[in-house]
Amino acid sequence: MSRYIPANIKKQLLQETQFRCASCLQSIEFLTDNSFYSFDEKAHIESYSETKDNSYENLITLCPTCHTKYDKHPDKEASQTKLKSLKKHWIVASGNYSKLEIDCLMSIYKDDNFTWVKLEKFTNASNGKTLEARSFSVPQRQSYLFRNLIKNELVTVIKQKGAFGDGNLTLGPSLPAEDTLVFILSEKGKIFCSKF
Ligand SMILES: [Zn+2]
Repeated sequence: MSRYIPANIKKQLLQETQFRCASCLQSIEFLTDNSFYSFDEKAHIESYSETKDNSYENLITLCPTCHTKYDKHPDKEASQTKLKSLKKHWIVASGNYSKLEIDCLMSIYKDDNFTWVKLEKFTNASNGKTLEARSFSVPQRQSYLFRNLIKNELVTVIKQKGAFGDGNLTLGPSLPAEDTLVFILSEKGKIFCSKF
């Protein structure tokens, strides 16, 4: 492992804050596509020496002044808490995830009383093993609301055939039965949530 941060992650981080410092919003200057990286700094939210974590979730764009301010802060924990809340703000503000996606994801991660979340048992069809996991379900047609969680594999999606609607409702027109998608946290999703 090295401190080297892949170019695609650097690009994602700069886009996240629209080429600004995540804390003071000062523009990160750049001259050409090839040289702008030298003008900004990437701060680790959980220190690199302890975690060796160079993932997008553990990095944030800061200007040199703010980077020094957070690094040299006398209260290390307060500094890290502030960086985590900045990161959460930018993850949503950048459009990488919607607020709904982050709220639902955090609800299955944390043991709170979000009414959508249920503790359910699942059986793996290939090996017959049972898994108990917190989950939430949506009709398949609503899966687009969670497309970023699905695309980035923060959730594992379990499909249940025709569980939503039974074609036999007494109010309104009959609805055809619709497949249900059940979301549980993937390993990647657990790591993502542990950053906040
Ligand atoms: Zn700054």
